[in-house]
Amino acid sequence: MDDINGSRVINLSKATLEACIHCGLCLPACPTYLATGRETESPRGRIYLVDQYVSNKLPFSDRLAEHLDSCLGCLGCQTACPSGVDYESILDAVRPQLANKRSAFSRLLGRIAFRQVLPRYGLLRVLGMLLRIWQLAMGSRVLGRLTDHFAPDTTLSPPRRFLKRLAGWEKFLPLLKEHIPLPTRLDPKNPSDRGVHTLLFKGCVMDIFYNHVNHSTMRILLKQGHSVEVPDQTCCGALAFHQGEADIARDLARRNLERFGFGQDPIIVNAAGCGAMLKHYKTLFEDDPELAHRAAEFSARVRDLSEFLVQYTFQTIPEPFERKTTYHAACHLAHAQKVHEEPLTLLQELDKKNDTRKLVPLAQQEHCCGSAGIYNLFNTELSLDILEEKLDHLEKTGAKTVVTSNPGCQLQLEAGIAARGLDIEVRHIAEVLDRAY
Ligand code: SF4
Ligand code: SF4
Repeated sequence: MDDINGSRVINLSKATLEACIHCGLCLPACPTYLATGRETESPRGRIYLVDQYVSNKLPFSDRLAEHLDSCLGCLGCQTACPSGVDYESILDAVRPQLANKRSAFSRLLGRIAFRQVLPRYGLLRVLGMLLRIWQLAMGSRVLGRLTDHFAPDTTLSPPRRFLKRLAGWEKFLPLLKEHIPLPTRLDPKNPSDRGVHTLLFKGCVMDIFYNHVNHSTMRILLKQGHSVEVPDQTCCGALAFHQGEADIARDLARRNLERFGFGQDPIIVNAAGCGAMLKHYKTLFEDDPELAHRAAEFSARVRDLSEFLVQYTFQTIPEPFERKTTYHAACHLAHAQKVHEEPLTLLQELDKKNDTRKLVPLAQQEHCCGSAGIYNLFNTELSLDILEEKLDHLEKTGAKTVVTSNPGCQLQLEAGIAARGLDIEVRHIAEVLDRAY
């Protein structure tokens, strides 16, 4: 339980661990267990390992860290568990230990990215622009050709290994569209009585890779009669938190608490990962006497776009789907935020306008696609195995459009679909609704 400095780093009660009765009902919901068939890569196995560690029966060895690090954090197990095991708290408690296991270099790079790059939207836009130039100049192809000739990873020098990894990561990136800055505020021409003043959380990854989705989000809110403001803001801190860098996540959260201020205005989020983190601010500061109340109020105002839109009727008749469509639930929406039905209700509303139904179910719709924040960058092999399973199900639906609500899922699905050469487009729900209404 003690780290190398002798301080207690696992803040976890025995009762949380003992809530697991080892029934195994979570196993079919766990993508890493399904992909590997190994108990150590299952929720039950991981809880057992943490319990053994907390009881001083096992050291926090590299092997133990590997089993915990391979967890996607998708929380599918938590939804499936009939005993109400709080798996999220168990995983969150070991995240700093996992961070301690990373090499000093990789940890430093991560901390620089989380503290100095992601929160700086101006810098992100410049990097996005450079990436677009690189993509248009076919830089990816050159890098791919160069690294194709490299020997297997184990025999490569660190710079070559880094280049090879970079080439692998690039396959997950779509061709960036031109970035169009968001308006700071939009107001409906004819405000209705039901219109609400909303605040948009635009996200860092979302605004760089899918800036058009943020524009669609603003338009769709406007079409329902709401006004939308985009306050000054910073990264939600989810990526830092999931990498065990809780101090950075807290700093970023503090800044967002300040910038969004007090009030009743709902905070609308279209990226499931950010939404889950913003709702988690309440837990992040629950022991902080100064911020606990403020963070709880902030989290209570956060709404996923679908959660918000479904409460109101639209003022226009929608255009139905043109193509067979299916829905992939982002795990940070379904499991972390427990938003299961709302996106489907909105999509079904569109499908009602079709003579024959075009919205088709996706098997294991709420299973993770393997993206899980930046999991796919570091656990690429397992992430791709999990993606293959998702793509198999997707192909079986015969759908030509898959709708989702998280930039990580979009990147992952688009990369997998392109690699298989499938004729399926990936759309964010905001785009689909914006197009329809
Ligand atoms: S986490 Fe829940 S579902 Fe899984 S083995 Fe434990 S009690 Fe059973
Ligand atoms: S969070 Fe996801 S990957 Fe991790 S144990 Fe639970 S179901 Fe498996």
